[in-house]
Amino acid sequence: PVVLSQSKFIHRDNLSYPFEERGLQFGDGVYEVIRVYRGTYHLLKEHVDRLFRSAEAIKLALPFTNEQLIASLLELLKRNDMKTDGKVYLQATRGSAPRDHVFPKGVVANVYAYVQNLDRNLVNLQQGVSVLTHEDIRWEYCFIKSLNLLPNVLAKQTAKEKNCYEAILHKDGKVTECSSSNVYLVKDGTIYTHPTTKQILHGCVRMAVERFAKDLDIPFVEEAFMLDDIQDADELFLTSTTSEVLPIITVDGETIRDGKPGSITRRLQKAYEMDANIS
Ligand code: PLP
Repeated sequence: PVVLSQSKFIHRDNLSYPFEERGLQFGDGVYEVIRVYRGTYHLLKEHVDRLFRSAEAIKLALPFTNEQLIASLLELLKRNDMKTDGKVYLQATRGSAPRDHVFPKGVVANVYAYVQNLDRNLVNLQQGVSVLTHEDIRWEYCFIKSLNLLPNVLAKQTAKEKNCYEAILHKDGKVTECSSSNVYLVKDGTIYTHPTTKQILHGCVRMAVERFAKDLDIPFVEEAFMLDDIQDADELFLTSTTSEVLPIITVDGETIRDGKPGSITRRLQKAYEMDANIS
């Protein structure tokens, strides 16, 4: 397999980093995960635009333009002869330099990207998943897709240990998002989700879902819901690049309605498949 390293393509076995690397020592970097269906990117522009927004928010100069990065990412799939479903992980850090909190001078960002196969989880998409609720203990800048994922990792691990797929995060009872996905509640035909403030990551699939809702004439309201609203919800679902539009059927062991994915969730799943050309 070939990886993109800086602006070159090399065999993945030849990619290594010095131990004094700011991504490793400070989490000083940003990343993206981009979905590939049958060898073609989905929502590529959205992901690349968000990478530049994240980089700007941490004052990280990326050593390429938006257009150059898109060209490199397309080349990455070609060089790997990618024809299946998969995902590309890309990260950019403030580079390698002697450890010091202050930004190093004259050091270029370390950037790499690689592709992995990833099958769609059709069982989860069909049946839905169980989740638990968890306090949101993250920092105030969650709109940045930064490498500092420890609170997300801890929340996801707690979920895993309770046989749950995800953790719904809340601040004093107000639902923000999940540990690695956005979350939505449906009530009386309207979709509710946290507004795109600094408290959540502005998901690329969330942007697509907002577009689908508009096309389907389903009201999409950017208003946070409370933990207390969940028991009376008609439907609940989450979205992310790797999870797609995924029904949630139980929360903290309590079933949502009849425990079956709801009709609005189903319509959005269909719209997603049409959008990604996988229906
Ligand atoms: N929220 C968090 C915290 C995430 O890590 C992710 C990424 O997967 C998302 C939301 C969903 O974003 P996207 O739809 O761009 O994958």
